Amino acid sequence: DFDTKLNVVDNNEFMIISDKFNKTVESIKRLDESRSQFVSNVSHELKTPITSMKILADSLVGQDNLPIEIYQEFMTDIASEIDRENEIITDLLDMVKMDKKTATLNYSSVDIKELIEQVLKRLTPIASEKNIELVFESFRPVVADIDEVKFGRAISNLVENAIKYNVMDGWVRVTLNSDHKFFYITINDSGIGIPAENIDRIFDRFYRVDKARDRETGGSGLGLSIVKNIIILHEGEIKVYSKEEEGTTFSVRVPLRVLKENENIEDTGFI
Ligand code: ADP
Repeated sequence: DFDTKLNVVDNNEFMIISDKFNKTVESIKRLDESRSQFVSNVSHELKTPITSMKILADSLVGQDNLPIEIYQEFMTDIASEIDRENEIITDLLDMVKMDKKTATLNYSSVDIKELIEQVLKRLTPIASEKNIELVFESFRPVVADIDEVKFGRAISNLVENAIKYNVMDGWVRVTLNSDHKFFYITINDSGIGIPAENIDRIFDRFYRVDKARDRETGGSGLGLSIVKNIIILHEGEIKVYSKEEEGTTFSVRVPLRVLKENENIEDTGFI
């Protein structure tokens, strides 16, 4: 009887250990799969513009007496594919730089209102192309310890998306607020929105809701994953709410200053 008991205990322990082992193997497998998925996504994304350029160039080669307008049109298309390739490579490099494991933040005390104003000023020309109104409401002065360049990049990506995925004559509204521990930025647009079934994936690398539609607007599908990395590096949070045909709101919450060891952030019930 004693022996059987021992056996049972051993057996249980064995089960626990083998369960742990299986879980570890599973997670290594998953990591490996996501890595090879990533490599295959990168190759695919980089190859697409090259394929288009090759087709465009091939159709010009060996054609004599083509009207100059056709040459110009094809060369313009080739140039825009080159821009696209460039954009993807820049985003990829940024993404690697912003990787949580390797990135370091260059903290300084920054006037967030001024930073947002600069971002909006830079994006005004692309907003005017679609006659989109950019509105900024700042409820109080906010000075925070952040990496100005990286954080500016995150806000810029969000506002750029709000313009890109908007309608003609639409609007983008940015707000800034703070309490004693955090500052809050919302970017709200009157755009096309994100379907509920896609919303969980928009921060994934290379994910685009509608490949065909999104291709026309340019972009690599890396923008939001870069944004998320930057916000997480700042120990902040980002959330998204969206309704198709109505618009999208991204809200960002970031601590006003870098936490010293032993300090705790109280949850203020940010939703
Ligand atoms: P990109 O803009 O380069 O495609 P992002 O990572 O910035 O990549 O965004 C991923 C996808 O999320 C976009 O392709 C688009 O479908 C969707 N998206 C992002 N921001 C918005 C927005 N403000 N309104 C509607 N859709 C958006």
